Amino acid sequence: MLNQLLSDYNSRLSHSGVNGERLANRLAELSKIGHTSENGSYRLGFSAEERQAKELVKKWMTEAGLTVKEDGAGNVFGRKEGRRNLPAILSGSHVDSVPNGGHFDGPLGVLSALEVAQAWQETGYVPERPFEVVIFSDEEGSRFNGGLTGSTAFVGELDLERQRTMTDKDGLSFEQVLAKDGLSIETIAEAKRNAEDVAMFVEVHIEQGKRLEKNDLQVGIVTGIAGPVWLEFTFDGEAGHAGNTPMTDRRDALAAASAFIGKVQALPRTVSDSAVATVGKLNVHPNGVNVIPGQVKLYVDVRDIFEEPRNQLINQILEAAEVISGQTGVEVTWKEMIRKQPVPIRKDLQNLFSKAVEANGIEPYFLPSGAGHDAMIVGRHIPAAMLFVRSQDGISHNPAEWSSLNDCVQGVHVLKTFLERSMDEQPE
Ligand SMILES: [Zn+2]
Repeated sequence: MLNQLLSDYNSRLSHSGVNGERLANRLAELSKIGHTSENGSYRLGFSAEERQAKELVKKWMTEAGLTVKEDGAGNVFGRKEGRRNLPAILSGSHVDSVPNGGHFDGPLGVLSALEVAQAWQETGYVPERPFEVVIFSDEEGSRFNGGLTGSTAFVGELDLERQRTMTDKDGLSFEQVLAKDGLSIETIAEAKRNAEDVAMFVEVHIEQGKRLEKNDLQVGIVTGIAGPVWLEFTFDGEAGHAGNTPMTDRRDALAAASAFIGKVQALPRTVSDSAVATVGKLNVHPNGVNVIPGQVKLYVDVRDIFEEPRNQLINQILEAAEVISGQTGVEVTWKEMIRKQPVPIRKDLQNLFSKAVEANGIEPYFLPSGAGHDAMIVGRHIPAAMLFVRSQDGISHNPAEWSSLNDCVQGVHVLKTFLERSMDEQPE
């Protein structure tokens, strides 16, 4: 990985204390932990591999002159004191991955923040307010179908009773897994950080999409983080023999569901530019070649960075289901499975990022985040901002995930400029 990172690196980007070779080395070192046979990354939340990655980053934090602390949820903080004892600015991400994931999703955000701290140490810059590099635990949540565990505990919102009931595929409970990492439900309850001690959280993350690539831009400013709503629809028709039932005498659940899926595709653009809706899962019953489908269960994932257009879209989807039900005689029922609040990012923080991007010779470009991130959780309580770094082919959660070192280092410079400028401004 190291050679590939360095192969097209423009070393003139290493300046102002920021060192691209060091960043490349660290990305490569982290990628060795939980390295899979397919060249991917396997570091589940609260696993031995996530622990090993945290310990390695802690060592680097110490080298960068940071004071290292860990909270009861296993979240790691490397702190640099500021000139004044003001609420701190935090920046970071996660080091866990999905099974056989990539090497940039998460680590880039942690190592970018660390690179800024190290650059400050080397150039003798002392920020106005304290700065902390953060690793949030178990962001991906692949093990327990949860996720964002560390950041949720950090804001004191983790449903501990629900966590107690969770088991992984090997039958290990959440508590048993925590115990292996020296943690417990009780220590997690203590992880809540006083919101008044934190002025802002900033996360650098790979885009996991192709917008920046299409626009030939290295970085982009995130306008908001879309919150997903998951809806489960059941289409109840009537199963029957595919040969003996005339077309006029059918209540085909799948035919009705297909018409509905077509509608779901068309609706988002009518409410906003950033709204999306996806049908990604479908169960057909009885699912036989020569049987008219009697029942279909399908799931719609609806997202937007603003709550109002998202709700509008949900209403339109529900209406579409009703209309199709009326037209086909197939009964449609639905229920809501998940509802996460979208987090728009404050305009003043977007503008501050915009100026930092321009200062580094890049044209400012704004885009929404369709995926959830730790910044979404933290952003409900503390001002949060995000910067995306271009992803090659938009591939993510896959060993082929890639961002060029040039893009990563540009991201560090933009983050550094942004942090230095926001140190003086008082985020409310
Ligand atoms: Zn991530």
